[in-house]
Amino acid sequence: MNRVQRFVGFIYQEVQMHSRKDKPDCIEIRIRPHGGILGRCSQCQRPAPGYDRLPERLWLFVPLWGIPTYFRYAPRRVECVEHGVVVEHIPWSDGKRPVTYAMMGFLARWARRLSWRETAQVFQTSWEAVYRSVEWFVQWGLANRALQQVESMGVDEIHWGHGLRADNFLTVIYQIDAHCRRLLWVGKRRSETTLRRGLKALGPEVVKGLRFVCSDMWKPYLNVIAAEAGQALHVLDRFHITTHLNQAVDQVRRSECSRLRAAGKARAQRLKHLRWSLLRRGSRVRGRARQKLDALVASKMATARAWELKETFFHFWHYKSVLWAGAFLDYWCYRAMRSRLDPLKKVARMLRAHEELLLNWFRAKGEISAGTVEGLNNKIRVVTRRSYGFRTYEAMEIALYHTLGRLPEPESTHRFC
Ligand SMILES: [Zn+2]
Repeated sequence: MNRVQRFVGFIYQEVQMHSRKDKPDCIEIRIRPHGGILGRCSQCQRPAPGYDRLPERLWLFVPLWGIPTYFRYAPRRVECVEHGVVVEHIPWSDGKRPVTYAMMGFLARWARRLSWRETAQVFQTSWEAVYRSVEWFVQWGLANRALQQVESMGVDEIHWGHGLRADNFLTVIYQIDAHCRRLLWVGKRRSETTLRRGLKALGPEVVKGLRFVCSDMWKPYLNVIAAEAGQALHVLDRFHITTHLNQAVDQVRRSECSRLRAAGKARAQRLKHLRWSLLRRGSRVRGRARQKLDALVASKMATARAWELKETFFHFWHYKSVLWAGAFLDYWCYRAMRSRLDPLKKVARMLRAHEELLLNWFRAKGEISAGTVEGLNNKIRVVTRRSYGFRTYEAMEIALYHTLGRLPEPESTHRFC
């Protein structure tokens, strides 16, 4: 019994093990009120004289020795001066739920390591019980989290589920400070309204206190960030720009490949298995892939020229001065515009249009780490993929806060795992 919490005003009366066919079925811990201590009103938690008792009820507690365990107790009704006759305050549960706080915390903690379905299976409970437990845990954490000292914020869109409808995108807001990286908010869609809703939920103090905001070149985000957090330095995310460049190279490769194949040229074969080598950083391609890549570069094919432009752009991030970085950007865009490669021309036009925001990367002087948003995005994908079992968007949202929100945890639930 030393693993079971003590509650002031209540006494553990007896423990009973029920068996079926010689196998332990469940454990019941019978609780009675302490004779000398008054029950408390469930509304105001002040002591009040007893009125009568309700029938016994069961609350699911943390399994002991792997056996489902329940609290059995007949709640009193008390007569509060202010609230009249009400059910007493029950310290191990919020009254309505048939699961104790301890068990909800227990399930919620395990639901971070296992999928919700696995958690339900291992602890012989329902998926619904796990969901409700995590929900309670997250709501408590969101209500009690501290939002001071949020200096850097990352805003991003995440694709979710199947298809490209507006509802298949999520807007996520991260804190990306070196001392704390976490998910602050997530909402459906990627419109201006969504982001405004998110910033409003975080509150004006957080938004006004921002020093850096990091985002993609997605127009609705740019608009809202400029309007709401104008004081912060807005930096475009390096990882998104790399993604745009990679997509452009891949487009060139695919169209060149089908063009050559249509003309019956053997060279089409050469492009076929190069996709991953082309998308990696050139310096990281080794071995046979390297030989193939070198042969391609020597060939002067369109794909080779596109790849070379992409590789050249990496120099951009190594500048120290805004002035030199700006000069490099001009030079790169000039070359890309003359490359006769439409996908790269498109990237060049986009970079030119956002030149000031791009150069803010150098004005931030290394205070924003390049990989943070990417890293958090990858973690989100792990959850949304695991979310196969999540039946609703709401359940997935809760799972995201649960795993990435770094939320504080209710203390009343002592640790079992
Ligand atoms: Zn009261």
